[in-house]
Amino acid sequence: MAIKKIKTLYDVICPFCGTLCDDVEVDIAENKVVEVRNACQIGTKKFFSSNPSEHRYETPMIRKKGKLEPASWEEAIDKAADILTKAKRPLLYGFSSTECEAQSKGVELAEMLGGILDNTASVCHGPSLLAKQDVGQPGSTLGEFKNRADLVIFWGSNPVHAHPRHLGRYSEFVRGYFRKDGRNDRTIVVVDPRNTHTAQIADLYIQVKPNEDYELLNAIRALLRGVELDVEEVSGVPMDQIKELVNTLKTCNFGVIFFGMGLTQSLSHHRNIDAAICLTRELNDHTKFLITPMRGHYNVAGANQVFSWNTGYAYSIDFSKGYPRYNPGEFSAVEVLIKNQIDASLIVASDPASNFPAASARNLFKYPLIVIDPHETPTSANADIVLPAAIAGIEAEGTAYRMDNVPLRLRKVKDAPGESISDKEILEKLIEKVKEKRGE
Ligand code: SF4
Repeated sequence: MAIKKIKTLYDVICPFCGTLCDDVEVDIAENKVVEVRNACQIGTKKFFSSNPSEHRYETPMIRKKGKLEPASWEEAIDKAADILTKAKRPLLYGFSSTECEAQSKGVELAEMLGGILDNTASVCHGPSLLAKQDVGQPGSTLGEFKNRADLVIFWGSNPVHAHPRHLGRYSEFVRGYFRKDGRNDRTIVVVDPRNTHTAQIADLYIQVKPNEDYELLNAIRALLRGVELDVEEVSGVPMDQIKELVNTLKTCNFGVIFFGMGLTQSLSHHRNIDAAICLTRELNDHTKFLITPMRGHYNVAGANQVFSWNTGYAYSIDFSKGYPRYNPGEFSAVEVLIKNQIDASLIVASDPASNFPAASARNLFKYPLIVIDPHETPTSANADIVLPAAIAGIEAEGTAYRMDNVPLRLRKVKDAPGESISDKEILEKLIEKVKEKRGE
């Protein structure tokens, strides 16, 4: 039996969650991932998902007589550009699971088409961006937290499941320069309505009632200012426990709040984040305190950066007047779909059909739908055209921004199967074809 030649790549960045772990080792044999070391389960699964399978697209597909059939790149790009040039209000959405260079091309195409441009922040940390615009954000890099934090608060986030190696690399178990004893040198607090697996390994678990984070945050702020609250509990949390928490916050040396979608997507949305940021700022009267969002998709922070430096706005952008306008709630993908305000869409590296409200998904499928994705998803299964992409960070190089906005270089570890090419190359082809059709 012939022995397979295995090539090992070191210091590979995992393109799954916003932690962007940069110490992954990947073994490749015959252009297939055969072993992954150091990544967590979900990261490992992503590397293995690059291998050929029945769910992987390897050629462009066009819907003919109700069925997706293989097609040439020329035919697929021509048809996709035709749809986009004829549309009066196309939606370009997704972009958080691809590299910055592709995101930049997406902005260029949206501007050319006068379309709506949005990324997945509009359904996750959009409220964090709004609050940051309102009151700023005292933040830092994950390295600072690793080396200095002795109090770590996870508010509405469950990293044990969503960012598994965050705890081991930056926030809980890791030894830092000033936290030589790792977990023993840190106090971990979890604020969450659910007794999550992260809560179960915390030193203090505060069970807040669903949708009442805003009241709790402001009760803490009031106590911090010396105000006496004449109530027995706030948001379901006994006053004694809130006082204990306030004391813990005031007496640490270096604290950090990592907040997730439990805070951004509960009632009050960006006002929750506004209050959490103000609390962080006020805590700096007593000690050192910082706050950072737990970004989900590995390059959603990059999508916000790239959209901002190109248009001035991080998400929910409308180019219909020839210049970018920004209004989350009006130009967000979910809202324009629910209000039936689009007539075609291009979805890049995303699966809105799996996580948008049903009414949005129904309207998405009512109009011509082009999907750029490596894999079959509920969105791509309903597309009119599927353009097969190389997986960024595994089959294509590029730049991605970690959750703390540190840019890192994604590596290519293997070739993409079949005729797949990078998201950036696909978007470049579309831009060229749209120009050609318009005689530009
Ligand atoms: S924690 Fe996130 S970035 Fe790190 S290996 Fe797991 S999925 Fe990948």
